[in-house]
Amino acid sequence: MRYAETGFNLEIDLSRGNIERVETDPRDTELYLGGLGTNAKILWERVPPEVEPFSPDNLLIFGTGLLCGTPATGCNRTIVSTISPQTRLMAFSMMGGFWAPELKYAGYDKVVLRGQSPHLVYIWINNDKVEIRDAAHLQGKGAVETAELIREELKEPKAQVAAIGLAGENRVYFASIEQGRSSASRGGIGAVMGDKRVKAVVVRGTRDVNVARPAEYMQLCNEVLQYIKWRNENPVPGVMPILAGLGSPQEMKVHDEKWHTENFMWGNSRTRRKDFWNEEVAREWMETLDSMRRRLISCFNCPMTCGATIAPPGRPTYMMKCFSKLTYTMAAMSDLEFGLGIAQSATEYGVDGFSAPQVMAFAVELYENGILTDADLPGMPSDNEERFYWLLDRIVRREGIGDVLANGTYWAAKQIGKGAEAYAHNNIKKIEQLPLKLSMLNPIYFLMYATGEKINITQIEGQFPQAPFVTMEEREAFVQDWFQVPDDRFKQYFLDWEPRGEKSMPFYPTVQMCCDIVDWQERMHYIDDALGMCAGLSSFPLKPPYHIHNYPKFISAGAGIEMDEEKLTQATKRYRTLVRAINIRRGMRRKDEKPPEDHWKKRFPDLEKELLDTYYQLKGWNNQGIPTQESLHELGLDYVFEDFEKREIYSDMGDTPSQENSTEKEKEV
Ligand code: SF4
Repeated sequence: MRYAETGFNLEIDLSRGNIERVETDPRDTELYLGGLGTNAKILWERVPPEVEPFSPDNLLIFGTGLLCGTPATGCNRTIVSTISPQTRLMAFSMMGGFWAPELKYAGYDKVVLRGQSPHLVYIWINNDKVEIRDAAHLQGKGAVETAELIREELKEPKAQVAAIGLAGENRVYFASIEQGRSSASRGGIGAVMGDKRVKAVVVRGTRDVNVARPAEYMQLCNEVLQYIKWRNENPVPGVMPILAGLGSPQEMKVHDEKWHTENFMWGNSRTRRKDFWNEEVAREWMETLDSMRRRLISCFNCPMTCGATIAPPGRPTYMMKCFSKLTYTMAAMSDLEFGLGIAQSATEYGVDGFSAPQVMAFAVELYENGILTDADLPGMPSDNEERFYWLLDRIVRREGIGDVLANGTYWAAKQIGKGAEAYAHNNIKKIEQLPLKLSMLNPIYFLMYATGEKINITQIEGQFPQAPFVTMEEREAFVQDWFQVPDDRFKQYFLDWEPRGEKSMPFYPTVQMCCDIVDWQERMHYIDDALGMCAGLSSFPLKPPYHIHNYPKFISAGAGIEMDEEKLTQATKRYRTLVRAINIRRGMRRKDEKPPEDHWKKRFPDLEKELLDTYYQLKGWNNQGIPTQESLHELGLDYVFEDFEKREIYSDMGDTPSQENSTEKEKEV
């Protein structure tokens, strides 16, 4: 008997129209857990580096987390993995909502799509019955509209629909997959779905998921719920609200956006507006949010209500999540009314709420600086807000300049030339980042930005406070109930950390301590991504209900795999290393591991080198960031070493250029 997981994947060959229910190996679950871990194992085995993102041989894997579908609060993530057209590396984007539990209840842990359909289709999974159905009538429809039409057509109001919009159909590199109140957005996974000619994957499941030791499991779940209640009533004092509470940053509840609007950059990640937030703005934005917000909503089995339904005047109601609330507003230097309106179009089109606004702001900046001209943008309105709507339409249709911008700022700048590369200044590994530009190097964030392979800083950070507390009394109070730390030494790091003087940034925490902290933070995110847990209840906020001490108990009682902290740490290290191995095999090296040049004004090259050297060593990677033979052996990944040897990867000292061809044919504008 398999517990927590079903033990079966759905394998769908779109080229042949073949559907198989395949039993999986329980040893893989022990070694790689589920979700991201086993997704990585499949990608390693079946997608060699020669496979292009837009190739029938690329896989698109919808993987549920190991504990999804069990009563664990907030455990609802689908991890979608493929090779990204934007980064040309492994993408593993997460979506919340309801899809993953529904797939488990239908009897599957993953849906693995391969090949390419000859025409647009959708996949209908109804427990045992699985069909590939024609989707010609859905061509060009919005992602939310598609979900509604399919539910009506199937007469299944409870079906969960993961769909792409026009952006995915047209293979826009930052196209998302939209679902419920959530989306999987980063890395252009929606473009790969469009390339496979799959408009939607629809699921209805009515079966049970078994847990190994139900009474023990329910006790653990209740403890988490009690802690959530207590934490909500007692936010962590002394830290910014976004980290003091649980859930994904409460964006749809809060009206006070002082912190975001004054610390993040506006426009093409250029302009900081330090005194932006005043009483008048606060009143206006509060009125906007109150007038458009219909109700607060949650993902499956979660009390946090961090999303909301939004009804902009004259537009259909849609579901807004997290920080997309502000990304369009800030990129266009506009107001909340504009942001909530254009986000409705963007959700229907299905684009990443971080990348899309930055791509449009980049185009406007190029125009203002004479690099793009009226000849490149014929018919572009003169009104600022109208320009953003106009650009979004061109991008998702790949019309005119939109065809170039649809590849994201990195590839678009290369195609445009004429100095445009200097304006694509906010990328890491070819993908747009949060619009942040700061003063002095933060060594912890340096490491996360440089080495993260999720390539999304909010999905790497958490656990350790972002800044020191001023007084020792405050620090002592903070560490007192900090039981989530894997080891007490982290408490000492924090106690000794001063805002100024010898024990302050950038030289304290020391290099070794920074490596330790980043390793802990990353480990927690990777555990979440294998178990299917929302980062908002685990790896992102400070002092969360899920942590390294109770996770092994959840896995033991839930999945029936006897787990302790050491074994869990080792399993996480194993699939984290496998993610790196996939990317190393695709050409990623040390030279790719750097934050945007202008992320901090004050840089410390020697310290940065030492940080990277030490972190690589801690991780068991050589000075090119390649996992060593010893570390691979220790993790039982000898097969990776053999492959590296065969491909002569260890003899590459970083001078081989990264894959520099976009998957679209490069052309002059
Ligand atoms: S914390 Fe928020 S984002 Fe996370 S599962 Fe709950 S409602 Fe969804």
